Amino acid sequence: MDLKNLTIKKFNEGLVKKEFSAFEITKAFFDLIKSRDKEIGAYLRLSENTALERAKIVDAELNSNSKLSILAGIPLAIKDNILIKGEITTAASKILENYKASYDATVIKKLKNNGAVFLGKTNMDEFAMGSSTENSAFQKTRNPRDSERVPGGSSGGSAAAVAADMAVATLGSDTGGSIRQPANFCGVVGLKPTYGAVSRYGLIAMASSLDQIGPITKTVEDAAILFKEISGRDKFDVTSVDAEYGDEFLNPDFNKIKKLKIGLPKEYFTVPDFASDEVDGRRVEGLNKETQKAVQETIENLKKSGFEFKEISLLRTKYALSCYYIIMPAEVSANVARFDGIRYGQMSNVKGQGLSLKDIYLKTRGEGFGEEVKRRIILGTFVLSSGYYDAYYSKAQKVRQMIKHDFEKAFQEVDVILTPVSPTPAFKIGEKTSDPLQMYLEDIFTIPVNLAGLPAVSIPTRTKGLPIGFQLIGKHFREADILGIGQWYERN
Ligand code: GLN
Repeated sequence: MDLKNLTIKKFNEGLVKKEFSAFEITKAFFDLIKSRDKEIGAYLRLSENTALERAKIVDAELNSNSKLSILAGIPLAIKDNILIKGEITTAASKILENYKASYDATVIKKLKNNGAVFLGKTNMDEFAMGSSTENSAFQKTRNPRDSERVPGGSSGGSAAAVAADMAVATLGSDTGGSIRQPANFCGVVGLKPTYGAVSRYGLIAMASSLDQIGPITKTVEDAAILFKEISGRDKFDVTSVDAEYGDEFLNPDFNKIKKLKIGLPKEYFTVPDFASDEVDGRRVEGLNKETQKAVQETIENLKKSGFEFKEISLLRTKYALSCYYIIMPAEVSANVARFDGIRYGQMSNVKGQGLSLKDIYLKTRGEGFGEEVKRRIILGTFVLSSGYYDAYYSKAQKVRQMIKHDFEKAFQEVDVILTPVSPTPAFKIGEKTSDPLQMYLEDIFTIPVNLAGLPAVSIPTRTKGLPIGFQLIGKHFREADILGIGQWYERN
């Protein structure tokens, strides 16, 4: 069985035609994972028994001629910050090492109802904080396209699992780029939906006003299929909405798609202006040449096929990173307060020692959280503290509105925006760990999208060598536009 080119679409066709059984394929995935993942380290845990059981049920249903969902039997892997009832869910943190989820995240419930099979939970940066998966408390994940390099982050395990054919597709979460950047580094497709399109219920929160769950897949078509199944309003997430999603992104009308006008924001391409600025007195690397070339070639190809482009401006782009690194840690500091050793995160080493409440807090959090999580808690409580709140947090909220406004203005002129995903292709393991600022800069092109709550997809260009993707940003709830252009691109 060729697991390499197995997409959701192909799996479904083969299953329905009885070319294989869901059980056989699931088994084949575990065989491959057991050898391949020793090198890659994409999975934190496998759930072989449950997966094989679920696959058997799908096969039985198929044999009894019931009509199956397109996701029936599809072997998926799930980022370890999304809850699956009864399974350990750690968010790659020591503090949750023994935490067993007591309910299903809404996305999981939807996938279960559609008969999807879960192969296991994937590695990530602790609590989704990072851009390389090097912040996992448990293991490193290597980039399947070059094992000396990082897979990106924080959904590095999910992207690596798809790129190494160890899952048909996966779910990740994206707060500032964590689906798109690892998809970009590993040469696969990653979709961050519009804020509110997918329920966050059962996602271990990082920064609640920015987080979204989304698919990582081999094709744009698969991303559309998976997104359709996980989206929709959920009474357990008041920020979720019922958008009018028809079937247009499953069967795009390419005549309409070809008429979409694509904007190129000059701030994302002019290197010295912001990407290669001086930060803290240090020169930072801007948009790298190969990336620029690969994205430019994609633009030229789209132009040749008749797409209309227009230069636009997103003036406040240069403030996005600073704005994010105030708002995100503020929300982080509130969200991770629940991991205190009492409500969540009881660690075995503090049990039964007769410690005071304060000592339990200090010991649990001191030992349970990694360095990056602590850094963000400190930053977050600082920007929220009285005296600094106005100077930082409330100012950042205003800047966020301005960034949003820039996009709104741009979307009066164009339908879709095309940009690079990251300033560089995948970097070497260890290359940026000693300098958090360098790491933060990885998300310079993805963060504005989260601040504005927009949908965006990362799609591989056709460049040789290390994978390089391009990003398509759409209007709110217009996933159909970006997925439509993406599907056109992958078919032509
Ligand atoms: N790399 C970014 C950060 O560390 C984004 C993380 C994410 O999207 N979860 O904050």
